[in-house]
Amino acid sequence: MNKNFIAGEWLDGARVSRNINPSDTRDLVGEYAQADVAQTQLAIASAEAAFPAWSLSTPQQRFDILDAVGSEILARRAELGDLLAREEGKTLPEAIGEVARAGNIFKFFAGEALRPGGEMMPSVRPGVGVEITREALGVIGIITPWNFPIAIPAWKIAPALAYGNCVVFKPAELVPGSAWALAEILSRSGLPQGVFNLVMGRGAEVGATLLDDPRIAAVTFTGSVATGQKVAAACVARMAKFQLEMGGKNPMVVLDDADLGVAVNCAVQSGFFSTGQRCTASSRLIVTEGIHDRFVAAVIAKMQTLKVGDARQAGTDIGPVVDQNQLGQNLSYVGIAQAEGATLACGGTAVTHSADGQPGFYMTPALITDTTAAMRINREEVFGPVVSVLRARDYEEALFLANDTPFGLAAGIATASLKHATHFKRHSQAGMVMVNLPTAGVDYHVPFGGRKGSSYGPREQGRYAAEFYTVVKTAYTQA
Ligand code: NAD
Repeated sequence: MNKNFIAGEWLDGARVSRNINPSDTRDLVGEYAQADVAQTQLAIASAEAAFPAWSLSTPQQRFDILDAVGSEILARRAELGDLLAREEGKTLPEAIGEVARAGNIFKFFAGEALRPGGEMMPSVRPGVGVEITREALGVIGIITPWNFPIAIPAWKIAPALAYGNCVVFKPAELVPGSAWALAEILSRSGLPQGVFNLVMGRGAEVGATLLDDPRIAAVTFTGSVATGQKVAAACVARMAKFQLEMGGKNPMVVLDDADLGVAVNCAVQSGFFSTGQRCTASSRLIVTEGIHDRFVAAVIAKMQTLKVGDARQAGTDIGPVVDQNQLGQNLSYVGIAQAEGATLACGGTAVTHSADGQPGFYMTPALITDTTAAMRINREEVFGPVVSVLRARDYEEALFLANDTPFGLAAGIATASLKHATHFKRHSQAGMVMVNLPTAGVDYHVPFGGRKGSSYGPREQGRYAAEFYTVVKTAYTQA
């Protein structure tokens, strides 16, 4: 049984959860301890006790630890990628890529620990100097979703530690395996006792305890809008700092002058790969009249070549959906779209077994055409391999439709026109904009985040992460 890591010790939980492989529901990935409220409070207390010393640790000490963690993750990418694919269901190459990303993030923030910087300014008063510095916040509560089981924890834990904070980390219930493996690496990294704590368990119990405890200085959350709203309400009530990364309904605009091959690759890659379970997935393809029919035919032709199957089997393009609930949600949105008058042009059916007869949560990727902007399929996040197509008269209408959403995480455009690409980059109401590239797939050293209903608070990743994980101090000195 894999235990929680609290105050430098591995502890049994109040209960046990079973981690099931979505590619083969007969396969038990492992059993994981579930913390309760008391154990979560113990983790918070241990992080609070560790903070004064850790916040004053040297940049060299933090660099050495984070760099070594990054090196170990990178060296074990094949093994950790296999575990990730087995518990979450993305394909092995995707999972290994995610693990490598996590390793690179630790190495990036190892470097950031050495570059805290600051400013010195003359005062407006004679003989006075002003220094502007950044300091650690305290204990950070980290709450993560299931779809990136190691990269999202890495992009929250690494900056939190790099800037001198202590951490209580609660991973998603569905994917404790990768979180536990990361915690195990951190447990041997030389971090002082209590600086990093892992509490696996339920959102409503462990997560809610983190939100309400006054010893948690700040909460960083990635997940659904509904939970994000609870995080915000709880943090505002006690005036704790918080940061939210939530859902998306990301548009990919395809203009008449686009390279058809590029446009189809962008759409298929960001719509269906990782089983569509990416917050940056393109779920709305907005296509101008002149290319619409050719584009839809080419996307369908490509979709028919995609192999749905066991995430860890060579040749699989699309693994299973993460669990039965998510599969039910995906299929229900296919039905909702049809009931509202859209056409199911390809896929969209459940497949109960893999080609080898393994029971799993499989479905064929779905393309839904003849949709309008008001339909639920174009307004609500599905979070599966379900993509809709909207017809647009011209670029102006395509831009309008792209922005006609409560979300604003990522947006893409496929075009050969510098004029339209430039205009789109400026006028898209999304946090991240891609030109002739899939909306999903971002670098690890630059800011990540969205606008409108997708995000709240400072950006994650890159050196912009310092905005969230530190607090600014202005000090005046009379010489
Ligand atoms: P979720 O909101 O159900 O769960 C996210 C986390 O919150 C889990 O760890 C869960 O246990 C915890 N939680 C649940 N209830 C809680 C409560 N009352 N108090 C505190 N914590 C609680 O989301 P999910 O289903 O795991 O993830 C899918 C969602 O995540 C999608 O909406 C997706 O778009 C979003 N996502 C966003 C980004 C981004 O960066 N914008 C990245 C990945 C995923």
